[in-house]
Amino acid sequence: MPNSDDAKSFSHVESISSIEPFTRILVIGAHPDDAEFHAGGLMVSQAERGSHIGILSLTDGSAGHQTLDRSELAERRRSEAEQAAAYLNAELTIWDQPDGELAPTIDLRKRLVRDIRSFAPELIVTHRPYDYHPDHRATAILVQDACYLLRVPNVESQVPVLEVDPVVLCMADFFTRPISFRADVVLPIEPFFETVLDLLSCHASQVFEWLPFITGESLSGDPRRWLESFYGRRPAAIARRYAPQGRYAEAFELSEYGRQSPLELLRQKLGTA
Ligand SMILES: [Zn+2]
Repeated sequence: MPNSDDAKSFSHVESISSIEPFTRILVIGAHPDDAEFHAGGLMVSQAERGSHIGILSLTDGSAGHQTLDRSELAERRRSEAEQAAAYLNAELTIWDQPDGELAPTIDLRKRLVRDIRSFAPELIVTHRPYDYHPDHRATAILVQDACYLLRVPNVESQVPVLEVDPVVLCMADFFTRPISFRADVVLPIEPFFETVLDLLSCHASQVFEWLPFITGESLSGDPRRWLESFYGRRPAAIARRYAPQGRYAEAFELSEYGRQSPLELLRQKLGTA
């Protein structure tokens, strides 16, 4: 393995050169609704531009509910996630790892290498490793560790290696320690906002049951209006910070562990420039 201070010596930093939309995008979240919450606008916008979307949840989502037990909730969340994926004609995979107990083990790294190679994405979207939720942090570490191995033939050799490393984008967060999020790509999502609400509404056990319960917020009145208010705070805060001309936005940071790209090219590829 090369051990150079010059990152450009790694094959990972070969740049993208086309401004055509990404053909295959894989959003890897810790929980079955993370893709919709943090990258729903990106998924909708890129699906409209012809990208094929994959959604991979590394846990079964079985932790968060006030009345359902783990097996009941895991089954319900799979069904909800399937509904949301169907909206986008997306390929959905949900691992059987228990929600709240994800750890970046060697076995799961190998499983992720196999799954990423099988989907063969040009773009991966995932969490940053700095986050309040241990499953989000573990997901970020698993993805960054798996990405280096996607083209290494003696790792999980039963699944052929990728010919080209994917670009990796990290979803926005507001955590500042040890490193604040950097908005390399800002995507205004106002045109897609209602569709993202449709996607999130599929996750009823969360957005209409668990989240109102755990936040102590009442669902009185129209549940969709509550969801609009609850979910909308985040893309509204991102827009205020990074795209003040718009009402709602998502933002993404280019990971240095995936294929590199001049940011202007990447923005053109995603239709934001
Ligand atoms: Zn999550």
